[in-house]
Amino acid sequence: MATEHHEVVVIGAGIAGISAAYELARSSTGRDFVVVDALDGPGGTWRTHRFPGVRSDTEVFTLGYSHKPWTGAPYATGQEILDYLEEVIAENGLGDHFHYGQRLVKASWSTSEQRWRLTFSSTDNDDAGTTTMTARFLWMCHGYYRHDEPHRPEWPGMDTFAGRWIHPQQWPDDPDLIGKQVLVIGSGATAATMVPVIADGCAHVTVLQRSPTYFFQSANSDDLADQLRALDTPPEWIHEIVRRKAVKEMQGITATATTFPGPMKDGLVSLVAAQLPEGYDVATHFTPHHEPADQRICRILNGDLFAAISRGDVTVVTDHIETFTPGGVRTKGGQEIEADVVITATGFDLSIFGEAAFDIDGDPVDFSSTVTYRGILFSDVPNLAWTFGALRLSWTMRVELVSQFVLRLLDELAGSASSSVTPRLRVDPATMDLTPYVDPAQFSPGYLVRSADRVPRSGSSEPWCYELDFWSEKDTLPSVSLRDEFLEYVEQGSSRN
Ligand SMILES: Cc1cc2nc3c(=O)[nH]c(=O)nc-3n(C[C@H](O)[C@H](O)[C@H](O)COP(=O)(O)OP(=O)(O)OC[C@H]3O[C@@H](n4cnc5c(N)ncnc54)[C@H](O)[C@@H]3O)c2cc1C
Repeated sequence: MATEHHEVVVIGAGIAGISAAYELARSSTGRDFVVVDALDGPGGTWRTHRFPGVRSDTEVFTLGYSHKPWTGAPYATGQEILDYLEEVIAENGLGDHFHYGQRLVKASWSTSEQRWRLTFSSTDNDDAGTTTMTARFLWMCHGYYRHDEPHRPEWPGMDTFAGRWIHPQQWPDDPDLIGKQVLVIGSGATAATMVPVIADGCAHVTVLQRSPTYFFQSANSDDLADQLRALDTPPEWIHEIVRRKAVKEMQGITATATTFPGPMKDGLVSLVAAQLPEGYDVATHFTPHHEPADQRICRILNGDLFAAISRGDVTVVTDHIETFTPGGVRTKGGQEIEADVVITATGFDLSIFGEAAFDIDGDPVDFSSTVTYRGILFSDVPNLAWTFGALRLSWTMRVELVSQFVLRLLDELAGSASSSVTPRLRVDPATMDLTPYVDPAQFSPGYLVRSADRVPRSGSSEPWCYELDFWSEKDTLPSVSLRDEFLEYVEQGSSRN
């Protein structure tokens, strides 16, 4: 049987893969493409994460796409976002391009054939073996963390614990938390959104964190959107206007966080303190050690977490685990925390190119020795792009920029009758000032720091870097030349084919 071939194969059907499909389908050349995902349907993050309270942390005017108005409250539940993404696929007639239950496990570039040979394993049928497909261009939209395996730290005495373990990324159908002593380990957005929702039914929830997090606070409403709605403004206009406002606001917040970290820190912490009972130890539990610009700031809606703490339903402990015991945890500070259930909201493990094995003509590709071209392509790797979104505002804002860049690149390939494009560094990487893909001096969440030695490198200037500053990249990326000294094109039918 002939191997299935497509001009473009997209890996991943989350926000990034759906954006890629939208752009590919509406391109004037009517591209031949498929989107393949290991899950059993689209949505990526919003399909995988089903824990109670799962919701967006940024408003959906920007987490949503520019082309489909968001008409709900600004911060949406996981299910609402999943519904929105499924509507994008249906409304644009994209469904036939999507294939589920297939994990990319191997990608081999052949210089002589000028194409990728892709090997997939079935995720819904262990006996199905592997399938192969070939592609001219491989577009990785696999996100940034592993969906199949959450981050599971090892602690002493774990095997002695007699209760139940739950990881939010693999939320069970029968969590059975009613009347239980629940220990949530972690301080990030997952813990902060889940805890107020589960607190009602549990006997008690203890949050054990090593270090505190910053919190924004707001109601789940947007005054400008409400005003515009009251004026019968078309949803498309409201979407665009509120989106622009959100982008500007995040620019201001980012500038303040990087230029005036001290006052920003004080402001955020005092807003938290104002919602907690008098005498609460804010210095220990809600005053972070990092700077506000170093990581995403979590959002609390309507003060729900602080209300649960104030009611006495939730206790926060800031300490390190010494050991698990049959009945819970003993901390290094000597506290015994009783637990029937432990929820490990301990974050993610970074996904390095979907954990697939890459090679070029049989030579394995070690992505940590490549340098990224504009945070999208990789030195010496032909016809491969990765959509990595924005970190300082909604992910989707950069996703759309990258999709449009890749479409321009595909048009350039087609228009010049070229079969491949490869970024060539043309200088010795040892002479460059290189950091991990995202410079940890600027942004340092745990999942990036833990895998810093496995990710592609980033230089200190364009085009050899991932640009953390969306506000400058949004003006440069749409018009940068695709014929610079670093992009090497191979013409169809040339001796390299
Ligand atoms: C609980 C939670 C809340 C979040 N809230 C926000 C928010 O409010 N705002 C924000 O900007 N960001 C948020 N994020 C970050 C969020 O992940 C991104 O916003 C966005 O959804 C990522 O989209 P993506 O398509 O790039 O990746 P993902 O959503 O991770 O999707 C990647 C897809 O690729 C598939 N895949 C991976 N490897 C392979 C392979 N080898 N073969 C086949 N398929 C593969 C996966 O199965 C998955 O479906 C949140 C994340 C989480 C976990």
